[in-house]
Amino acid sequence: MRAMSTFPIRVFGDPVLKQQTRLVEDIDGTFAKVVDTMFTTMYDAPGVGLAAPQVGVQQRFFVYDIDDEPRVLINPQIVATEGEWTYEEGCLSIPGLNFAIVRPKVITVQAVDIDGNEVVVVGDELLGRVFLHEIDHLDGVLMFDRLDDVARKAALREWRRLETEGGAQRDPSHAL
Ligand SMILES: [Zn+2]
Repeated sequence: MRAMSTFPIRVFGDPVLKQQTRLVEDIDGTFAKVVDTMFTTMYDAPGVGLAAPQVGVQQRFFVYDIDDEPRVLINPQIVATEGEWTYEEGCLSIPGLNFAIVRPKVITVQAVDIDGNEVVVVGDELLGRVFLHEIDHLDGVLMFDRLDDVARKAALREWRRLETEGGAQRDPSHAL
């Protein structure tokens, strides 16, 4: 059996991660293939969410799989948020670092699914966090940007240390 192909995951420092994405216009066979390869890449990492810019695709969509429910959300928009929740986030593009970040707890997102249908999905806790983290990626926003100045400076120092040592280990749990 031929091994499934994966995309290389772009890591912090790659300019593509800081750029805005374009709306997806054609949900065609080519697009579906990119989505499939993104799922393979995400499972291989391993992670539970992956946004297009993380594999160098500057389009507005992301894939995720929590509780064995793989899904892609295309041109997502946050339509409502509620509450507050602190979660130790990890990012596949910032391997080796996790940060406790406070964000809303329940997130309602309007998007288009792989069949071109409009969908509204509600995510609580981890699922809500996936939505916010991946939509940040679509806007060129990374976890570092969600930290206050003092925490960001410390985090960037730690990142440089990991890079110099070359031993950045991915936290295998729930990276986004
Ligand atoms: Zn991420």
